[in-house]
Amino acid sequence: MSGRLLAQKFVVISLGIALLATSGASFYKSRRLKEPVVLGPGVTTVRPLSTWFAPLRGTANDCNVYFLDGRTPGATMLVLGGSHPEEPAGRLVTWILAENAIVQKGRLIVVLSTNRSATTVTRLGGAYPPDFSIPTDFGSRTFRMGDRFTNPLDQWPDPEVYFHYPSGQQLAYVDIRNVNRVWPGRANGTLTEQTAYALMEMIKREKVDIELDLHEAELQYPVISTIVTHQRGQDMATLVSMTLTDSEFKIGTEFSPRTLHGLSHREIGDFSPAVSLLAETPEPFLDATRGITSREQLLTGRDEFVVKAGQHGLLFEKIDEKGWPIAVRVGRHTSTLLQIAETWGEDHPDKLLVISGVPRYKEVIANGVGHYLHDPAKAAGRVVYE
Ligand SMILES: [Zn+2]
Repeated sequence: MSGRLLAQKFVVISLGIALLATSGASFYKSRRLKEPVVLGPGVTTVRPLSTWFAPLRGTANDCNVYFLDGRTPGATMLVLGGSHPEEPAGRLVTWILAENAIVQKGRLIVVLSTNRSATTVTRLGGAYPPDFSIPTDFGSRTFRMGDRFTNPLDQWPDPEVYFHYPSGQQLAYVDIRNVNRVWPGRANGTLTEQTAYALMEMIKREKVDIELDLHEAELQYPVISTIVTHQRGQDMATLVSMTLTDSEFKIGTEFSPRTLHGLSHREIGDFSPAVSLLAETPEPFLDATRGITSREQLLTGRDEFVVKAGQHGLLFEKIDEKGWPIAVRVGRHTSTLLQIAETWGEDHPDKLLVISGVPRYKEVIANGVGHYLHDPAKAAGRVVYE
């Protein structure tokens, strides 16, 4: 072998090792990035999910469950953030609840990292940023970006075909790592199935009346800017949509198909007494036709390529140069949640859910999401990590 060839090989191998080391360090760092939660005045206890299903203990998905007990009894509502962590508005709403909400009547149960493993990785090959920061009144707070699917480091390999349990319906193989395709879960199943199973156990034992799963969707996806509801929630969801559309922003209602399995709005309602609902906001960051996949794009929701797709009639939601800023998306979810509590109360005067301290749509837009995040440095003894 000539000296020149040897030198070329050496250069290529060195570049490969350098790439491996720098990207490996970045993956390691983002998987372990600590996300503080400043416990608000309404949080009464925080318990690990393994409380309701011991085999989850010590796994990546033994997430925190925040209880906000009201001053007087009433209805119990469960709010799920981070079913799909790459849809950050939902997670940020649960942060706002944990750090600000006070329950006057009834009880709130909040999960910030429903699929915690999925918060530790981004979409493979998607070139998504590993994290993003929200400006606050005291500086900024940084969050893991996350993916739609459980991290393959925690659950691998995927099967050739995935049969949903217990329906037996065949779903996309990769959805075995999608917590919103494995409900109601399986005690002896994969990590993702066990996560849904543990949450189902909690829903039943804690007697949850209303469950709301917070999501975001690409504009090319038809289920967007809407509340998807189980048949037992149809009247309530329709009234919530009408009220919000009249007073704050346009939002629709869709009925959960009875034969499409694995989704929270179908299975939680079928396998527990809870009314199950799912809310979607627009997130251009997920669109296949998006431009630069940057932290800024995630927060502003501005993208000229997605606007172009809209001009060609390819979208199910409007978008212009103003984009879909994170405050708009978070505010849609907080108002939807508060409106659900109010509408529920009109139908159940003997079992109310009264929440205060949570900003509605216009307040989130006026003050910014970060205004509702508090300084961990000034909250000694009241900080937990996701
Ligand atoms: Zn989603």
